[in-house]
Amino acid sequence: MTTAPLDMPRPAAPHAMTQAEPGRLPSLVGLTRAGLGEALLAAGVPEREIRMRVGQLWHWIYFRGATSFEAMTNVGKGLRATLATRYSLARPEVVTEQVSVDGTRKWLMRMPSTGPHDRGAEIEAVYIPESDRGTLCVSSQVGCTLTCTFCHTGTQKLVRNLSAAEIVAQLIVARDRLGDWPGGVRPTDGLVPDAERAVSNIVFMGMGEPLYNFENVRDATEVLSDGEGLSLSRRRITLSTSGVVPMIERAGDEIGSMLAISLHAVRDELRNELVPLNKKYPIADLLDACRNYPGLSNARRITFEYVMLKGVNDSLAEARELVRLLKGIPAKINLIPFNPWPGTRYECSDWDQIEAFSEVVFRAGYASPVRTPRGRDILAACGQLKSETEKLRARARLMLESGIGAEGFFMGASDD
Ligand code: SAH
Ligand code: SF4
Repeated sequence: MTTAPLDMPRPAAPHAMTQAEPGRLPSLVGLTRAGLGEALLAAGVPEREIRMRVGQLWHWIYFRGATSFEAMTNVGKGLRATLATRYSLARPEVVTEQVSVDGTRKWLMRMPSTGPHDRGAEIEAVYIPESDRGTLCVSSQVGCTLTCTFCHTGTQKLVRNLSAAEIVAQLIVARDRLGDWPGGVRPTDGLVPDAERAVSNIVFMGMGEPLYNFENVRDATEVLSDGEGLSLSRRRITLSTSGVVPMIERAGDEIGSMLAISLHAVRDELRNELVPLNKKYPIADLLDACRNYPGLSNARRITFEYVMLKGVNDSLAEARELVRLLKGIPAKINLIPFNPWPGTRYECSDWDQIEAFSEVVFRAGYASPVRTPRGRDILAACGQLKSETEKLRARARLMLESGIGAEGFFMGASDD
């Protein structure tokens, strides 16, 4: 961990894991089995040993969370030394870690630089602890090429796909920071029992449109769900899409995760405005793709997300239309209070209206539909990732320059 320059409002705590040395040796962390096999071949491991060696590395990297080759006691000394000269087990650098009063944590991570002109992409992941689960919200892209009008991520200029390894690394960092490996020690509550992981669920609801980065999201899911490693079953991984219709069936076949659809409107005219991708793939086509989603059943429902925008999409007539539209599709409905950001033209619906809307949905047979906003004081909510941090960092820098400490700044940052 480097010392914090002025643009780092709150450096991660010093008990961090082994840190990346950006630009040095390529890291094996996040690779698929095939990727590890190639790395081993390149390091001179004979072909007949590859399967066995991949199995060993897999266990150390993804089951134990090893941060050095030294720790891999069942791998021969010679091979450990060879690997250490060619590769690292570095994680993305944790630039900042923020902890909300409600226990939500947000990490700003910098990926290793890919060349002399790349400072290293920055992305955010959010951990949301609840009584019966712990959810990690991961990013699939830096920014997003889509331009949903209520989403701040969509206003960012810089966009690139994350590699599968960069997606997986977000969980690795979360496990490091939460002491969430077998035998690990959690920062607050002592030793982690093997049967109980802090991170039990993953949602692709951070930055980016996962179905525009299909192969990498698919490969990452394969690593995340591998029973000999990170072991998050596909039923505990949810992919959220704004509605890339031609990729939905393939997602069911090849990714096999749970599916969430960002619906947000019940009429094409309005959805064209909120989710411009709707002009290409209108509501009827989207719902058809949902009906045909492989593996769909009452036990494996599709979640429909609906952001509550005051006076825009929150009338009771729209609530009734919503349940009518979804009839026959095994579905859950998730009402999301709009998270405002500076410059947005939208407001969050009044609480009474959200309740009345949810009552209509509830009476139609859908349970617990309103998503409680979490981590608001650290701007960890949906649609606020990264771009908010950029703004905050700029503001924090100004304040530091004018002599106000970053700590004081963050204490007062919860203005929404
Ligand atoms: N691109 C994917 C996944 C990332 S967005 C998608 O659009 O589904 C995750 C969820 O947050 C989506 O349902 C999105 O519509 C919602 N969202 C975006 N901005 C929001 C905001 N400002 N307030 C509330 N929800 C928002
Ligand atoms: Fe992209 Fe999703 Fe935001 Fe739309 S809501 S701009 S698809 S991240």
